[in-house]
Amino acid sequence: MLKELLKETGALLEGHFLLSSGKHSDGYIQCAKLLMYPDKAEKAIGMIAEKLKDIDFDLVVGPAMGGIIVSYELARQMGKPSIFVEREDGEMTLRRGFDIKPGQKVLITEDVVTTGKSSYEAIKVVEDNGGEVVGIACVVDRSKGDIKYPIFSGAKVDLNIYEKEECPLCKKGEDIIKPGSRKVK
Ligand SMILES: [Zn+2]
Repeated sequence: MLKELLKETGALLEGHFLLSSGKHSDGYIQCAKLLMYPDKAEKAIGMIAEKLKDIDFDLVVGPAMGGIIVSYELARQMGKPSIFVEREDGEMTLRRGFDIKPGQKVLITEDVVTTGKSSYEAIKVVEDNGGEVVGIACVVDRSKGDIKYPIFSGAKVDLNIYEKEECPLCKKGEDIIKPGSRKVK
């Protein structure tokens, strides 16, 4: 189970967290903590590859940074080429001599999909180049079911996000943790 892999590597934390937005949550995901172990990354992404068996695509495209490792490993397992799009002056773009040919079927990859913002930016690059997006593959799907492309995920994870005034964990008096640092309270 992917959720166990996420937990055992510290990629999925449960508790009471202060997010950079100032909101509070009852969990935190940092996929890089799982992807830092190539053997576990292989296993996790193998679970996504399994779901893509019957999907026809020519190329995997990951938005930098989060999508690159997933894109590379998924492409390796499925025998496809992998490229990435990256920001230049704030705008997602194709660089490094990468190209997408008109009519190419493209799978977008991400580590985590939440609002789909970076996926949509990558999709725009693909479609502007005449490519056809067949879906989004990700390790963790945190979306609310409102993404307009098929999602192939290793695991669906729902985290609750609260305004600090309404946070039930604060009301219970639980210590809050700022992810990546020590306790702040
Ligand atoms: Zn709280």
